[in-house]
Amino acid sequence: MKITYLGTAASEGFPAVFCNCKYCNEARKLKGKNIRTRSQALIDDDLLLDFPQDSYMHFLQNDIQADKIKYLLITHSHMDHFYIEDLAARGSAFAHDMRAETLDAYCGKGTYEKAVAYMSGESRFQFRIHNTGLFQPFKVGDYEVTALPAKHMPGDDARIYIVSKQGKTLLYCNDTGYCFEEVFDYIQRKKIVFDMVSLDCTNVNIPIDDEHGHHMGFPNIQRLLQRLKDIGAITKDTVKYVTHFSHNGNPIQSYLEECATPLGCKVAYDGLQVEF
Ligand SMILES: [Zn+2]
Ligand SMILES: [Zn+2]
Ligand SMILES: [Zn+2]
Repeated sequence: MKITYLGTAASEGFPAVFCNCKYCNEARKLKGKNIRTRSQALIDDDLLLDFPQDSYMHFLQNDIQADKIKYLLITHSHMDHFYIEDLAARGSAFAHDMRAETLDAYCGKGTYEKAVAYMSGESRFQFRIHNTGLFQPFKVGDYEVTALPAKHMPGDDARIYIVSKQGKTLLYCNDTGYCFEEVFDYIQRKKIVFDMVSLDCTNVNIPIDDEHGHHMGFPNIQRLLQRLKDIGAITKDTVKYVTHFSHNGNPIQSYLEECATPLGCKVAYDGLQVEF
């Protein structure tokens, strides 16, 4: 499996849209890996994870022909993960001869309701949206996907995803705080071993509590990795990445690498491809 990180920032972007803080100004100067857009990833060439407001630029910058993408998994309905307004560009007046017959989008209750209300019976979107349950594996083309509850956006049915294909398994784990007990129970009961984990690191080193926090930083990630190791879900061969950074934590690439390396993690940046 191949994952391409198209965006690696939290909702405000990095540098943040209107921010004049020292970290954002440093990023404006350094550019390169320090410019981070809103979080999105592509698996192989046909499964998209989330649809933020930066999707269009992601497609241009990474030579992605969006009309070929068949599947979209949505984590939750915050705008930096589901910007439905731009899916209207699939409408017949705007998109001709698309090569994927339709775009099938999978999500939880909050996203589904937002989509249905926005589309209000119109067919111009040319995509289908599916409200899927938690802890219930489902097929998406050649992939097997399981949604697990995220500790994020209460009431939205926000989720993290397990994605498997041809014997490889990915845990895509943002946006969320430290995982719920039932997530660990499920992974342990199903004896799932991850080839790659991609983890929410919004807070970087700003403390956030495991029980109530709706994002994570390095200390939470360290505890999460230990827990996953204890239940046999990660091994020494598991590839570990952190992503989804807020400007408040100073997500300059070199600083993040200093923090991530002792945890055995690597730091995602916009445009990075990882094969595992
Ligand atoms: Zn987010
Ligand atoms: Zn800032
Ligand atoms: Zn969010």
